[in-house]
Amino acid sequence: MPEGPEIRLAADKIAKVLVQKDLTRVEFTFDHLRQFEKTLSGLVVTSVETRGKAMLTYFDDHWVIYSHNQLYGRWLVASKGTRPDTNRQLRLAIETEDKAALLYSATDISVMRKTELSSHPFLAKIGPDILSEQPDIDTIVARLLSPTFVRRQLATLLLDQHFLAGLGTYLCAEILFFSQLHPKTKASKCSSAMLRKLASNILSVTRQSYKTQGITNPPELVARLKANGITNKEGYRFSAYGRAGKACHTCGHSIERNNIGGRPIFHCPNCQSL
Ligand SMILES: [Zn+2]
Repeated sequence: MPEGPEIRLAADKIAKVLVQKDLTRVEFTFDHLRQFEKTLSGLVVTSVETRGKAMLTYFDDHWVIYSHNQLYGRWLVASKGTRPDTNRQLRLAIETEDKAALLYSATDISVMRKTELSSHPFLAKIGPDILSEQPDIDTIVARLLSPTFVRRQLATLLLDQHFLAGLGTYLCAEILFFSQLHPKTKASKCSSAMLRKLASNILSVTRQSYKTQGITNPPELVARLKANGITNKEGYRFSAYGRAGKACHTCGHSIERNNIGGRPIFHCPNCQSL
């Protein structure tokens, strides 16, 4: 399941093909969307943003395509006039003079005016997107301390897109590890210094993962692990996630895996005791 950084990278790929390019064709395969083909074909894509797992393709003249990939949707890029070798159903094609951005399999697609975004049922409910909207530390701490969230277990809270958009199970495990917080602790039990550290890690770990394509460990640790002979990415990218039974890089204790709210959560019982 892709998390914020992976979705942002997919949006970057689409933006590279479309932004500020002359569009030659926009095609929808759902009948109710075909009415927008002519309007959008004559416009220019100004940006591609993400809100959690949704993608927003902005056009000039205040139009936006909202698409949510759910579990099965996939954006692919092809040279103009060609199509990727796939059995998936094409839902949307946006073509320029030399490339095409193609959305396959997704069913949740709509076209709206920018002013209508805030009342969209999904967008109205989700919290600020960590990579696109860049909430600051004070904003995140205020959300952690709000009556809605302050008594929730941190692991389930971080995974809840109503709190912040963009975190999935690997980022959740890694952020809690670097914050030295137990997955079941609550904001109500944390000092303000702990909450600031947590908020800071939510931003920095997610941004680092976006820049490094999924490596959450600090560069010094990655270098040390590589020097010790761990050369495959799966071996050095994470401190806690997916490492059940392996030694904690900090203290040597065995990393544990538990199911919290039906999701796998990894932590070091020694480093994350609170
Ligand atoms: Zn440890």
